Amino acid sequence: MSAARPALPARPFHAVLIANRGEIAARIATACHEAGLRAIALYTDADRHALHSTVADAAYCVESYLDATAIIAAAQQAGAEAIHPGYGFLAENAAFAQAVIDAGLVWIGPSPAAIAAMGDKVAAKRLMAAAGVPLVPGAEAADDPTLKAAADQIGYPLLIKAAAGGGGRGMRVVTQAADFPAALAAARREAAAAFSDDRVFLEKYLLAPRHIEVQLLADTHGAVVHLGERECSIQRRHQKVVEEAPSPAVDPALRARLGAAAVSAAKAVDYVGAGTVEFLLDATGEPYFLEMNTRLQVEHPITEAITGLDLVRLQLAIAAGEPLPCTQTEIVLRGHAFECRIYAEDAAAGFLPASGPLHLFVPPTGPGVRNDVGVSTGDQVGVAYDPQLAKLIVHAADRPAALDRLAHALRHYAVLGVTTNLPFLNWLVAQPAFRAGETTTDFIARYWHPDPSTAPPLPQAVLLGAIALDLLTQQDRANTRPTADRSPWQTVGTWRAGGGRSLRLTYHDTTYTVAVTPTPAGGWTLDLDGTTTTLTATRRDPATVVITTADATFTIPGVVTPAGLLLSWQGQPYHLTKPAPPTVETTATSSATAGAATLTAPMPGKIIALHVVAGATVAANQPLLVLEAMKMEHTIIAPHAGTVVHLPHPLGATVTAGTVLAEIAADPA
Ligand code: ADP
Repeated sequence: MSAARPALPARPFHAVLIANRGEIAARIATACHEAGLRAIALYTDADRHALHSTVADAAYCVESYLDATAIIAAAQQAGAEAIHPGYGFLAENAAFAQAVIDAGLVWIGPSPAAIAAMGDKVAAKRLMAAAGVPLVPGAEAADDPTLKAAADQIGYPLLIKAAAGGGGRGMRVVTQAADFPAALAAARREAAAAFSDDRVFLEKYLLAPRHIEVQLLADTHGAVVHLGERECSIQRRHQKVVEEAPSPAVDPALRARLGAAAVSAAKAVDYVGAGTVEFLLDATGEPYFLEMNTRLQVEHPITEAITGLDLVRLQLAIAAGEPLPCTQTEIVLRGHAFECRIYAEDAAAGFLPASGPLHLFVPPTGPGVRNDVGVSTGDQVGVAYDPQLAKLIVHAADRPAALDRLAHALRHYAVLGVTTNLPFLNWLVAQPAFRAGETTTDFIARYWHPDPSTAPPLPQAVLLGAIALDLLTQQDRANTRPTADRSPWQTVGTWRAGGGRSLRLTYHDTTYTVAVTPTPAGGWTLDLDGTTTTLTATRRDPATVVITTADATFTIPGVVTPAGLLLSWQGQPYHLTKPAPPTVETTATSSATAGAATLTAPMPGKIIALHVVAGATVAANQPLLVLEAMKMEHTIIAPHAGTVVHLPHPLGATVTAGTVLAEIAADPA
């Protein structure tokens, strides 16, 4: 904007290496492509087929996303002149930023000095105090006795924090003086192990604060603007799950105050690029500086939604030496946005990370709905990395409309195979306190008390969906079999007199028995406990069933897996198993003694399907393998829940009658 600005090279870089993975790597690749730049990805062995490496123009294998030398070498080999670190990994590593610059590459981020100044939380707080930014009351000291004295003065509860901490780690709440010495020793040990730095400091533990953060942009010409705030108070383990912008607790006066404090924080370290200044707001609405994050934040899309700015494009432009495209007064906040992080985790079991195959991953679509995604259907979700799979972002004219949009989108988010936090998110959006904007950092602890032992009731739509999915699958199987082989006996299911058959499906402790009669119109009449329903079912795509009954039509995502039928309804996954029909069940001779079962072949035959592997955990009635004998398929099922301790024959093996096919040991109670 200044006339004295030096002339810029036309295009200082043409290709960008993205030193990250998952949704953020994919999102940065998109921004590079929109800017006419090549995007170079990295992947590790665990990420060999990951989405992010397939959307880039080229991908290089590295041992680790933390291997600075290999990453810089990959950039040079690929002809990338710039490196974007994303968030996490090396994004706030000043030594890496310096190594990138020393290698003659453009670092898309602030200077190593600014990263270092803000990376040490103690130093950052000192700097902020000098810049006149209010701090959470606290104390720093090198030795334990001084810290103890300071702790008693601050009062309890208080927090011991690691100076080099981050990501919600290295924090300990102490509720009373007597616990302080042991907590301090433990905090130092944890900090040394996690960050190779055992320095800690103390902060007053604010009760039920809000986490409010201000987005900044600064160019290389000295201009700094703020883009308003985000509220990120819905947290578990001090880590964010849901964010919104603007905050329901911030009015224009407070926004201006926070913005000014954030801008002075940035100016204090000659900040360049996108950065975030985090505050806690106490119960009276007073803000306190928490820390500055010298990188792009996970939750940046909600700021993009309400400002109309593309923060990653702007990071690229700033790194290329371009001035900011707007002044503070030109930044207008429009509407309201929410972000939900979709994590592979079991929210009902203490938010424990989950892993497994992603049989289906279909995010919702619609006006004002954005998905930043790092996975796709068919992926295997492992435990090597953070369990974040994707982010759902919605934007609407105001908070109530954005909430309605969020609730609708979450109800239509279908993930099958891996446990995710979608049931939690669907619960959250319906909470009156959340809808009222009463979002404080203790929200989850205060309101979320699920009983992991109780399953959600099975909606009628899901039961009909499962029946339809099973019937369609049987039909597909029958249609793909050679004509000569077709017989009613092979279209699975048990045929009953009069052309009907019965079907059994188990959901948790309940088994539903349905009598099925085909209708002339190509549908089925179902008799379920004396209630009759006539329906037709078709597949819209391989994983979506459309069901029409006399009074409704609905669509339900569902897949058939070796472990059973998986269906998604209103953001909640349901797992039903199919006990083999009685005639087949009896064909496996099972000798069960003291919780163990040995399953032997009822007749000579060939193993034509293996649904489990040795060591697998199985549910009662879960199909284990299929034996083809006398032109019939016999499904061998688990007589009870347990572990497959012996599975001696490979697929295709021919066995004689009485051969042991599997052994199931019941798990200790
Ligand atoms: P990290 O860098 O590990 O993310 P932060 O300092 O940013 O750690 O804090 C993460 C979260 O921990 C905050 O959003 C807040 O919920 C909680 N927290 C941190 N400091 C305090 C405090 N002094 N009082 C109450 N809660 C706090």
